[in-house]
Amino acid sequence: MPERTVAIALGGNAILQHRERGTAEEQFANVRKAARHIAQIVSSGYTVIVTHGNGPQVGSILLKNELMEETLPPMPLDICGAESQGMIGYMLQQSMQEALREAGVDRPVATVLTQTLVDSNDPAFENPEKPIGPFYDPVQAKRLQEEKGWRMVQIPGRGYRRVVPSPRPVALVEEQAIARLVSAGVIVIAAGGGGVPVVTDSRGVFRGVEGVVDKDHTAAILARIVGAEDLLILTDVSRVTLNYGRPDQQEISEMTVREARDHLAAGHFPPGSMGPKVEAAVRFIENGGRRATIASLEEATLALAGRVGTRITP
Ligand code: ADP
Ligand code: MG
Repeated sequence: MPERTVAIALGGNAILQHRERGTAEEQFANVRKAARHIAQIVSSGYTVIVTHGNGPQVGSILLKNELMEETLPPMPLDICGAESQGMIGYMLQQSMQEALREAGVDRPVATVLTQTLVDSNDPAFENPEKPIGPFYDPVQAKRLQEEKGWRMVQIPGRGYRRVVPSPRPVALVEEQAIARLVSAGVIVIAAGGGGVPVVTDSRGVFRGVEGVVDKDHTAAILARIVGAEDLLILTDVSRVTLNYGRPDQQEISEMTVREARDHLAAGHFPPGSMGPKVEAAVRFIENGGRRATIASLEEATLALAGRVGTRITP
C-alpha cells in the first residue's frame, strides 16, 4: 500500500515559548520535542513534509541588525527571513535526524530554502498590517517613520511597532525541487516562515520584497505540491472554538468547508491567529486535499488518527 502523505505546519510556539528568552538551548529543546512527535508520525507509516513559523526569530534577527547598525550594514527583511529559515531549518533538521534514529527509521532529511512568489499588486502592499520586531516609544517611532519610511502602528498599552505587508502566497519558486525530493523519499523541511516573499521584475527575475507571508497560507500550497492527503496544523490550543475566550465558547471537533466559511464570515477566527489556519484548511480541501486538522503539538499523533483536534473535511 502506498504511504499517505501529510504536510505538517508547526506554530511559532513549537520553537519558542511565550515566557522564554529564546536562548539556543531553549529553542533546541522545543524543536527536539516537536521532532519526536514528527518522527512518531513517520514511523507510523506516513510520508511527511514539514513547514514552520518564524515570527519570534525573524523579529530578533531584525533587532540585532538594527542594534548593530553603526558597525555593520543592516540586512533587509527578505534576507532576515532567509536567515531565519536557515536557523530554524538547521535546528529542525538535526533534531529530526536524531529523533528518526531513536525511532529506528532510516530516512534522509533536508531543508529547502524557499522563495514564495507573491503578487506585486497584492492589496497587502498598500495596507501593511503584520506587526514585527520590537516595541518602540513614540519618539523612536516617529524617527524610524521619518528616517526609514517604516509604517508604525500603535499597540494599546505597549507602544509602537513596525508593520509590514503580509501578501498572499501565489506559488513556491522551489516547487519542483521540493516535489522531487519528497518523491525520492526525503523528509523535507520547506517554506519556513511562509517562505521569503519575492515578486518577478519586468525581465522575469525574482526579487525579494519587504514582507512576511503567513506560514499557514503557504502550508496549504506546499501540501498540494506534494499531493498530501492530510494537512496537520499544530499550534498551542487543542481545538478550534466558537466564541473563543468567552464563557459560551464551544469546541469544534469537525466542520465542513462550508461551515468553516460561515464561521469565518461570522468573525469567530481572528486575522493574525486562527483565521489563517482555518482559511488554509479551506483552501487545501478546495484544491483536492482530503482532510485538514488543527490541533496541539502534544496531541499530534492522536489528531492525525482523527481522535482529537478539529477536522475540516469536504
Ligand atoms: P501559531 O504560532 O501556531 O501560528 P497563533 O498564535 O498564530 O499560533 O494562533 C493560535 C492562537 O489562536 C491560539 O493560541 C489562540 O489564542 C488563538 N485563537 C484565536 N481565535 C481562536 C479560536 N476561535 N479558537 C481557538 N484558538 C483561537
Ligand atoms: Mg500564527
